Amino acid sequence: ARLANQIAAGEVVERPASVVKELVENSIDAGANRITIDIERGGHKLIRIRDNGHGIAKDELTLALSRHATSKLKSLDDLECISSLGFRGEALASISSVSRLTLSSKPAAQETAWQAFAEGRDMAVQVQPTAHPNGTTIEVKDLFFNTPARRKFLRTEKTEFSHIDELVKRIALSRFDVAITLTHNKKVVRQYRARTPEQGTDRVAQVAGKTFATDAAYIESGAEGLKLYGWVLPCGDSGNSQYTYVNGRMMRDKLILHAIRQAFEEQMGQIELPGFVIYLELDPRQVDVNVHPAKHEVRFHQARLVHDFIVQAVKQAVFMPEQ
Ligand code: ADP
Ligand code: MG
Repeated sequence: ARLANQIAAGEVVERPASVVKELVENSIDAGANRITIDIERGGHKLIRIRDNGHGIAKDELTLALSRHATSKLKSLDDLECISSLGFRGEALASISSVSRLTLSSKPAAQETAWQAFAEGRDMAVQVQPTAHPNGTTIEVKDLFFNTPARRKFLRTEKTEFSHIDELVKRIALSRFDVAITLTHNKKVVRQYRARTPEQGTDRVAQVAGKTFATDAAYIESGAEGLKLYGWVLPCGDSGNSQYTYVNGRMMRDKLILHAIRQAFEEQMGQIELPGFVIYLELDPRQVDVNVHPAKHEVRFHQARLVHDFIVQAVKQAVFMPEQ
């Protein structure tokens, strides 16, 4: 089983940023609204995620580290209407198979906190009492210590951290109501305070820059079960700010990119890819999120309809804001 975990780890755990992604998504799934991410040496030495979510009961600590045992998916029906971010039940198992992982947790209803430790392929998970406030902390040390081939692919500390920073930005834009702190080598690098939807522009300014937040056109459009909202900016130095979310999940979807580009090019001729932070919402049964193991891509059942809707919505907001 541990070997299977290590093979699966290849899909889930490419680099430190992929570990951060899985762990933070688990924290969000656990209802946390405060998450602290501590990184040392680009994540190679340490990745620590602390949250104030609902915690893991003592009896379930070991289970949480075993593959598929805990998948949030209960039936095929769920597969079509996935609302939680993690749904494969293998992230923790995969991560622990290529690191030294400590899981400490306390559900509010439990008197004491408990801690589980797993190291590499060694299946013996040890559980012991510990001190911990309500919520969960996961510490991942020495990533890839037992898989030298994969460790070789790690880039410099700076590069790996910049991937983590970018990932945390994308997460920060997916949930304005969650406070997130990111530290690197014990220094605070980002501090995203919790924001209400009305204060959303604050968060956008923090992530994508003040210029973007001030200059971008605001989109809000809905038709035929589709809803699009967010910010777009055709030019300026917004080139790095391209964020898309489908039903709250971050995506890098070709169809959406294409539609945004087309909206601009129909009006302005060829341009560089504009900056945008946009949220698309639609019936979950109209989209497959299962296309890619890392869940960055989606497939829309009515691709043409979605595409044309986005083109119209962007054109409307940017070029015909009065109508
Ligand atoms: P999945 O998210 O697909 O269920 P994971 O391997 O990512 O699988 O997590 C295994 C299980 O451990 C989750 O289903 C959840 O029950 C529990 N878990 C993991 N992280 C947390 C957390 N931060 N807070 C509460 N429970 C958690
Ligand atoms: Mg998960």
